[in-house]
Amino acid sequence: MRRELEALEDHREKPEIPAAVFPKALLMLWLCRLRSFNALHVLGRRGAGRRFLRQDMPSADQIANNSEILDVPGLRAILGRMYKRLGRNKVLVAMRGHRLAVVDGHEINCSYKRCCPKCQKRQITVNGQKRTQYYHRAVVFQLVGPGFRFLLDFELLEPHDDEGTAALRLIRRVLETYPRCFDILLGDGLYPQARLFKLLRQHGKHALVVLKDERRDLLKDARGLFGPKPQRTFRSGATAYRCWDVEDLDSWDSYHEKVRVVRSVETTTLRERKKDRWIERQQTSEWVWVTTLPAAEVPTATIVCFGHERWRIENEGFNELCNQWHANHYFHHHPTSITALWLMLFIAHALFHCFLRNIKPCLRQSLPVYIWAQLMLVEFLLPLLSSA
Ligand SMILES: [Zn+2]
Repeated sequence: MRRELEALEDHREKPEIPAAVFPKALLMLWLCRLRSFNALHVLGRRGAGRRFLRQDMPSADQIANNSEILDVPGLRAILGRMYKRLGRNKVLVAMRGHRLAVVDGHEINCSYKRCCPKCQKRQITVNGQKRTQYYHRAVVFQLVGPGFRFLLDFELLEPHDDEGTAALRLIRRVLETYPRCFDILLGDGLYPQARLFKLLRQHGKHALVVLKDERRDLLKDARGLFGPKPQRTFRSGATAYRCWDVEDLDSWDSYHEKVRVVRSVETTTLRERKKDRWIERQQTSEWVWVTTLPAAEVPTATIVCFGHERWRIENEGFNELCNQWHANHYFHHHPTSITALWLMLFIAHALFHCFLRNIKPCLRQSLPVYIWAQLMLVEFLLPLLSSA
């Protein structure tokens, strides 16, 4: 890994920072989950941080300037090698015989003042006044398997892109680079797009995405065909599922192949304590998915299970990255810097979860995940404090 990170800076001319220091400093930034380049500068000056770098720590400005020329394809190649290693070591495995991937968009940050030429813009009314807000949005591709997930790629939206266009670019790149990394692509209500379905079917892949736009003919037709009685019912834990499954729907104007629509009405029994007694409450939710998966290959209950796996990019991806890794702001506001730092974050995220996976289960389960992250930071901080 060290050699791979050092290779990223092979051909770069930034004499003020030795080539080997910069990638290691950024890896330290993410592994210690620091909030800024200034915090990184302080951590890397002395103690274990200094010993890890083996050279002088660059200033926060130097790190920011150099992050603008980071080798983005090189970082993607590192993630690719990690993906292959995780597959060979049976860490990333298929779920019920299928390899799943999730794609979703995320807004990183927004500002009324700070912008760059690649910022997206929108008009916001504040106290009756229209103001221009600048923001960056990105699409992330995550592989999900039982017990592990891996953030494989990242695509920043161009100034006039919509999320679908960037997602298409991202999926096309993944399909070209790792054609066997997934069988089924999961997505939210933004992804029932004919261009996406066509691309996936051209490569022999399937789509399974949320269908929630009530104006669409496809959903109207499917609702007309759902009978009053569910075709399939089952129970999992505290949730009862009532499912409807309709195949061979051809009312999608821009997509000429037949699709399948699955509806699941889920009732979960919740127990709540009110004053001095427990009461039971029922919560019902409805989900509808459109998919190209044939019923003969994937039964209704499996479609429902896979459909809910989409939430893992929200919970294990964006929520963790933003709340625990401080990814919801710009360390340096520059498109290359943003992309490169998120890709490095994916590398650190995978390394951390591999480290966690290799701890004995009885020890790992004795502490929450964030405590393990804090212990890692303390390893760096303690020698720093003792030498002060
Ligand atoms: Zn910008």
